[in-house]
Amino acid sequence: PPLYIQRYEFVIDFVKKNKPKKVVDLGCNDCTLLRKLKFHKEIELLAGLDIDCAVIRDKMYELAPIPTDYLQPGDHPLTIELYQGSVTERDPRTKGFDLVTSIELIEHLQLEDVDRFTEVVFGYMAPVAAIISTPNADFNPLLPGLTGFRHYDHKFEWTKVEFQTWALKVCREFGYVVAFTGVGQIPAQEESIGFCSQIGVFQIDRSGGDAPRLQNNVAEEHLPYRVLYNVVY
Ligand code: SAM
Repeated sequence: PPLYIQRYEFVIDFVKKNKPKKVVDLGCNDCTLLRKLKFHKEIELLAGLDIDCAVIRDKMYELAPIPTDYLQPGDHPLTIELYQGSVTERDPRTKGFDLVTSIELIEHLQLEDVDRFTEVVFGYMAPVAAIISTPNADFNPLLPGLTGFRHYDHKFEWTKVEFQTWALKVCREFGYVVAFTGVGQIPAQEESIGFCSQIGVFQIDRSGGDAPRLQNNVAEEHLPYRVLYNVVY
């Protein structure tokens, strides 16, 4: 399958194994990943955020219930919430999630916004787990005809070492552990190059005992994200 499908499948496999109840997809674009996730019955709250409201609106009504959602209901209702906003801003409605996904998003941010993103995701949202994917620049010489970045809107593309340096700093600062993996075949003779898309799977580090969970004082805080869609079924 194409690489973007492999990235979604990676997330879906993680969801099947870890059964998160609350999942938020950052940079959800036209909600393709969310449409796949809505069939995973353990999920109770599925949220999406993108800065581009037109792209969210494009297909968001496809997240509406279909007859089988009523014919084969899960044990609990599913809430879906879509927001327009930037990952550089803190909104209390994204706190306390079991899983945050950020698939091919960070390379679209200016580097100073990557710092804000890091603080917002790991310091403020503080999910139990996060899956972050981004292109692996080390792989670029293997892509035929590529000169420069893979996409005109990319602000940077990190090598494996650059991504891992960022990720390990996240772990030290915010109390996470990370596993590095990826999708996109590794040509046999080029294993040191790594995957075409590199992925960090972050888990909150509970080795020092359970960290106190953040209080969700939604009412007291500023809500910068705009709700575009909300459905419960
Ligand atoms: N995650 C999707 C996927 O894997 O197919 C879409 C990836 S697309 C390359 C990057 C997305 O990030 C776009 O939909 C873009 O609008 C969104 N984006 C860019 N900057 C953002 C920001 N500061 N906050 C939220 N979303 C942003």
